[in-house]
Amino acid sequence: MTGGHDRLARHIVDLPKSGIREFFDIVSTRRGVISMAVGEPDFDTPWHIREAAIHSLEQGCSHYTGNAGLIELRRAIADYVRARFGAAYDPAHEVLVTVGASEGLDNTLRALLNPGDEVLYHEPCFVSYGPEIAMAHGVPVAVETHVEDNFRLSVEALEAKVTPRTKALLVNFPNNPTGAVLEEADVRAIADFVLRHDLILISDEIYAELTWDGRRHVSFASVPALRDRLVLLHGYSKAWAMTGFRMAYVCAPAWIMETILKIHQYGIMCASTASQYAALEAMRQPEEDMAPMLRAYEMRRNFLRTSFAECGIPMHNPAGAFYAFPQIARFGLSSREFAVRLLEAENVAVVPGTAFGPCGEGFVRCSYATAMEQIKEAVTRIARFVRTL
Ligand code: PMP
Repeated sequence: MTGGHDRLARHIVDLPKSGIREFFDIVSTRRGVISMAVGEPDFDTPWHIREAAIHSLEQGCSHYTGNAGLIELRRAIADYVRARFGAAYDPAHEVLVTVGASEGLDNTLRALLNPGDEVLYHEPCFVSYGPEIAMAHGVPVAVETHVEDNFRLSVEALEAKVTPRTKALLVNFPNNPTGAVLEEADVRAIADFVLRHDLILISDEIYAELTWDGRRHVSFASVPALRDRLVLLHGYSKAWAMTGFRMAYVCAPAWIMETILKIHQYGIMCASTASQYAALEAMRQPEEDMAPMLRAYEMRRNFLRTSFAECGIPMHNPAGAFYAFPQIARFGLSSREFAVRLLEAENVAVVPGTAFGPCGEGFVRCSYATAMEQIKEAVTRIARFVRTL
């Protein structure tokens, strides 16, 4: 058979290659790179959680679970979400255990969208959002956020992009890549916007626990008026350092969940059983497990704020997640040139801001889910590098 793009799915062929992948391909050709480029915790999963997965296998838990996940786990999730996010979900019908928030998002978009439906999302954002919407036959409509507003999402910007074809709004706070968080007033204003335009809100709150300066995350799930039109995505990858377990969950009203579950049922069956036992264990003492990691992240964030200020690199305050998004425009290089030249000159990897959308131009993303010694060395090298520009 002869190959050719005309034999493949047009809407997938037409997707751009991930900018982050292209940059990582360059990084992978080099040795001894200090990387502030990865989007996952440098910590290993707490041992008692790993042990729970091992123990489940020793006990012979090597079979499928129910499609939606272990009911004990869904109950624990509902309890956690009630305590932490201020929302009540019925574990039997409104909670689904997924293979990462990635699967949760994919299922949600496929459950909601008919071809041509528009989805608003804000940029700079997680690299998957635009492509995920397009893969679900939707039309991605990016709304820019700006450093002047600390990358918060404004209702004026949303109003400028909403149309009669807009079906949903996808938001992510605390934000990858900017570290932006929302204040309670922002959450209320965005909720009003969603209600006014009769939209569905998909809120990816995977970094919910990672907020700094004494802040507490304000969840869209805490707004009662959104209850019937909100899909909440959350998971274990970030706050519990469990990326490889691929464990997350979706909370949604039963009328949406029914359709999301259908996609999960036919496409996935169920999430990995051993991972579900690990997640169940992760629910036992979340505060204790997270505390040392959260302390370390905040110290690193503080260090980066001071250090970038000292070397004359402007940066808004990244008040959540584990990313700093310094502004490098003043050095006269594009984001990509800056990242490539920094890599070549000093063997330090940061991600060009444009990997997260065109309005990321002028910024680079520095992940501080990297050991402090590495961050210190990286900053020394970045300071040396910018002095040459
Ligand atoms: N959402 C955001 C905003 C993320 O940054 C990531 C991971 N980088 C994900 C979702 C995917 O997470 P998971 O490992 O749960 O699939």
